[in-house]
Amino acid sequence: MAKKRILIVDALGDIASPIEQFSQAKKYDFASVKTGDECLKKIETFKPDLIVSELFLSDSNAIEILKQIKQTSFGKEIGMIILSNYPMIQNHHAAVTAGVKYFLLKPFKVSFIFQLFNRYFLGTLNPDPFSFPSYFKKPQEKQPEPPTSNTYIKFWGTRGSTSIAGTEYVRFGGNSSCLEIKDDKTLVIIDAGTGIRELGKLIPKTHKKIDLLLGHTHLDHVVGFPFFDPLYDPECHIVIWSPIGFEKTGKEFFKELLDYSLFPVRIEDIQAKLTFKELLPGTPLQFGKIKISTHYTCHPGPTLGFKIQVGKTTFGYITDNEVFMGYLGHPGKIHKNHESLMQYKSLFDFLEGCDFLVHEAQYTPMEYLAKMGWGHSSMSNATILVKHLGVKKWYVTHHDPSHTDEDLIKKHLFHKKLLEECKCDCSVSMAFDSLTIPLP
Ligand SMILES: [Zn+2]
Ligand SMILES: [Zn+2]
Repeated sequence: MAKKRILIVDALGDIASPIEQFSQAKKYDFASVKTGDECLKKIETFKPDLIVSELFLSDSNAIEILKQIKQTSFGKEIGMIILSNYPMIQNHHAAVTAGVKYFLLKPFKVSFIFQLFNRYFLGTLNPDPFSFPSYFKKPQEKQPEPPTSNTYIKFWGTRGSTSIAGTEYVRFGGNSSCLEIKDDKTLVIIDAGTGIRELGKLIPKTHKKIDLLLGHTHLDHVVGFPFFDPLYDPECHIVIWSPIGFEKTGKEFFKELLDYSLFPVRIEDIQAKLTFKELLPGTPLQFGKIKISTHYTCHPGPTLGFKIQVGKTTFGYITDNEVFMGYLGHPGKIHKNHESLMQYKSLFDFLEGCDFLVHEAQYTPMEYLAKMGWGHSSMSNATILVKHLGVKKWYVTHHDPSHTDEDLIKKHLFHKKLLEECKCDCSVSMAFDSLTIPLP
């Protein structure tokens, strides 16, 4: 009696060989092809009794091939077993509806497919109802759970000097300085630039204690304060921390800011409880699990930069700081023993061990020529700080109001180039309004 013929459409090249080498393979004649088109051609010469085909072929699919075969005079007698890697009920249903004899999920034991051949030629092979493979049903170990931590920092304002608006600023945003530091129940805000207005609207009404820290009281860091919604909640307690000013105390400053000549609500009319405290370098503050220390920066008037520790993460946040004032050379020229670094030893010590740094670089080197002594760093001089600090991640903030989205994208490329030229292994990003960094 002539052997039964089986044609294998081995689209992935992984089934013909194990089948043809199996111990019972001698019972049948096998041929194999790779595509649907080759299958249709081979049928005419090989005249198979059964086809074993991958469901998805490079030029078609097995169900479509079967439909075409069924339309030929000799094709009605040819059976088909379909193989698939994926347990998809729709695919199984389509195959069975098209008259496929069996829908076999991979991987399978070669001995099993020979049992199917046997049953097919005995006339007893019928498709099984769809079921998921056994590994779907095994009792699982404890399921992985997402972290429950609600700890993050969020930039609500990344613009320096003044807020801006317009179509050229939508990518990075135009709100002036404001950073939210959130650890479960603790909320600390640094700076009350225009970004604080939006933040204030989203603080849950149940949150009644807020610490607001100001690096200094220049307008871009306080102008959003009167628009901070929690000020008008009588149950809210806001503690305002600011450095000791040359001209006035924090309380005197805010009394002037909330004066009829500037704003229709006076400080006496604020409903929240306000407490004013002095922010002093050297004494770290603890707010829940958030620890904050400060360091004076190079900026007109008493101005502080921050080092913030939340859980295992420590980072620096310095918005206004003119480092390496007056230096106009390439940052790569400042080697590690350069005398100019001595002046910054205390700042380097302060920022030591930071996982990342948020630091301004407001001016391009060309702009810096005209703005030396204004209290902001050139891009290249900020690079010196980053390079010698050895920090691995730098977020640039306090963007100049004249820099459009396009300018900031160009600045980003320039930052990368400068770091590369300094052989500095630090990745740099431009901070933008609403940038949120989750903290582990
Ligand atoms: Zn500023
Ligand atoms: Zn300033």
